[in-house]
Amino acid sequence: MNQPVCSEFERGRRFVGRLPHGKDLIASIEDFCIESAIQMATFSVIGTVSSATIGVYDQKQQVYVTFTENMPMEVVTCVGNVSLKDEAPVIHAHIVLGDERGKIIGGHLFSETVLYAGEMDLQELVGKPLERVYDRTTGLFLWSVHP
Ligand code: ZN
Repeated sequence: MNQPVCSEFERGRRFVGRLPHGKDLIASIEDFCIESAIQMATFSVIGTVSSATIGVYDQKQQVYVTFTENMPMEVVTCVGNVSLKDEAPVIHAHIVLGDERGKIIGGHLFSETVLYAGEMDLQELVGKPLERVYDRTTGLFLWSVHP
């Protein structure tokens, strides 16, 4: 693949709201997308978490290396997207977290990351949804245009 895989989208519904206390961040947004019939979106979240699992992709081994922090941290920023994998909406998100001294960690967001409080701003995208399919080159589930 040596050229971008892109679809053109119209802006759909815009959702701004509060995410549930004590729930997993990714699951909360995925559940919201299922309930609201959202197939494609971009979103951001700010708030605070009581624990977080983040990681980085090891490109040689082609696996994610993750770690979990069990302490209160601010969600300095979290940005991500919603697209389809096996016909269901899936979240891809990255997060930057800050501790009480302002030190930050960040990476690819995983479950379990438990929300203490979260505010989401989600923009639905209307058009031919992108679908995640296995990519041999990277070992990742990357976007292709949904047939
Ligand atoms: Zn990622």
